[in-house]
Amino acid sequence: MTDEILPAIAGEILAGEAALSAAGRDWGNLIHARPGLVVRPASVTDVAVVLRFAAARGLPVAARGAGHSPYGQGQVEGGIVLDMTALPPRRVVTGDLVSVDAGARWREVLETTLPYGLTPPVLTDYLDLTVAGTLVVGGIGGATHHHGTQTDCVVELEVVTGTGEVLTCSRDTDRELFDAVLGGLGQCGVITRATLRLIPAPARARRWKLYYDSLPAFLADQRAVVGDGRFDYVEGQLIPVDGGWRYMLEAVAYYSPADGPDEAALLDSLEFGESEDEDTTYFDFLNRMADGEAALRAEGDWFRPHVWLNVFLTDGAVEEVVAETLAATGEAELGATGLILLYPVRNDRLKTPLLRVPPGEFSWLFSPLRTGSPDDPLHNARLIELNVDLHRRARGLGGKVYPSNTLPMTAEDWREHFGPAWPKLADAKARYAPGNLLNPGQRLMVG
Ligand SMILES: Cc1cc2nc3c(=O)[nH]c(=O)nc-3n(C[C@H](O)[C@H](O)[C@H](O)COP(=O)(O)OP(=O)(O)OC[C@H]3O[C@@H](n4cnc5c(N)ncnc54)[C@H](O)[C@@H]3O)c2cc1C
Repeated sequence: MTDEILPAIAGEILAGEAALSAAGRDWGNLIHARPGLVVRPASVTDVAVVLRFAAARGLPVAARGAGHSPYGQGQVEGGIVLDMTALPPRRVVTGDLVSVDAGARWREVLETTLPYGLTPPVLTDYLDLTVAGTLVVGGIGGATHHHGTQTDCVVELEVVTGTGEVLTCSRDTDRELFDAVLGGLGQCGVITRATLRLIPAPARARRWKLYYDSLPAFLADQRAVVGDGRFDYVEGQLIPVDGGWRYMLEAVAYYSPADGPDEAALLDSLEFGESEDEDTTYFDFLNRMADGEAALRAEGDWFRPHVWLNVFLTDGAVEEVVAETLAATGEAELGATGLILLYPVRNDRLKTPLLRVPPGEFSWLFSPLRTGSPDDPLHNARLIELNVDLHRRARGLGGKVYPSNTLPMTAEDWREHFGPAWPKLADAKARYAPGNLLNPGQRLMVG
């Protein structure tokens, strides 16, 4: 494929080695699918021209955000990669809404809204993911137990369908497309613009790290604080110590200087042992991964293979599955820079039809985030097998994937995952992006 055959566009068309090999890499560093072209669109029209051109010729296209997918989800062998971060910034706050180009990073969204004293209600742990990149998977974080996922905070989307039609959709207009795009793994269209709901931004964040030696006590306290909503943010980590495990409940109260958090009330009746706390600005709390990222980049560990798994467990299965996973996890299985997250969310806050979670009051996000080896493919293959086994086990007990994983999913796995939501997604995909040409790295085929 050469750039001559693409119609003229305002943006750039790249076919050089550097661009093609960069588009064939992602955070996982395990899949390397080399596209035929990379397009850096300068406008929505460019996106539409490329998609129309590709649809007419049966060429696959992948939209790429920040490229932080773990297993080739944003790659396409021989096709066209649309680098969505190239869209010119168009970021406007109006009342309690912000409208942004879909390739904006969440950091850039915050930089736009914080001067107005406003913030998106839910942010991911890492701010350098793009808006569209997280909206196609859900966008979960420590505030999800209050506000749902990032997809629950979307008011309107501009989408270019797989056939190159530019459409605007919302809960009131073209609801079918809206519901098929949010959490829809980029199968029906390319998001070019999103309008997001905002809430008042607090000035400061008080963060407690509460340590437990007992898994049941840790789970009970997480359940309690997520159930009564006393903190603004709750997550948790499982930390290897001396051949065993320690459990860290991470809880944050946001506040403005006039009304500091009531520590005694917040920590009341919790059964932790040791604790630490720190007080930072709201932004510094949200940006807490920045120092760690710089250190991992400096050491080269940021670029290692990442064999990440995110599954939702049922409340009934969480203790059993976590305990048995931890018993089988040592440094070889986790990697020196790997980590494991575990926290519950309230199902009644989740409104996005395509975000599938187990039934019950809570779903537990369980995320063994394994780091692989840059020069031992067999070791990495073993780690992927561990993910496959854990996914099978979780699924057998009513669990679901949170869909950003180093996990070989088949079309059948996806059909089962989406369950009753599948027919609508399959219909929307066949209507808006026929031929399975859009974002094929998700391996979600219909027809
Ligand atoms: C360090 C780190 C921390 C993370 N923390 C969290 C977290 O706290 N919470 C959470 O929910 N997730 C988290 N994730 C996972 C992350 O949300 C997903 O991997 C996300 O899809 C990555 O976004 P991206 O911008 O890098 O997109 P990419 O990897 O570039 O793309 C992801 C998928 O979206 C598609 N896509 C990209 N842009 C568009 C578009 N404009 N229109 C349609 N489809 C598009 C791609 O084709 C691909 O299928 C984390 C990932 C990393 C690496």
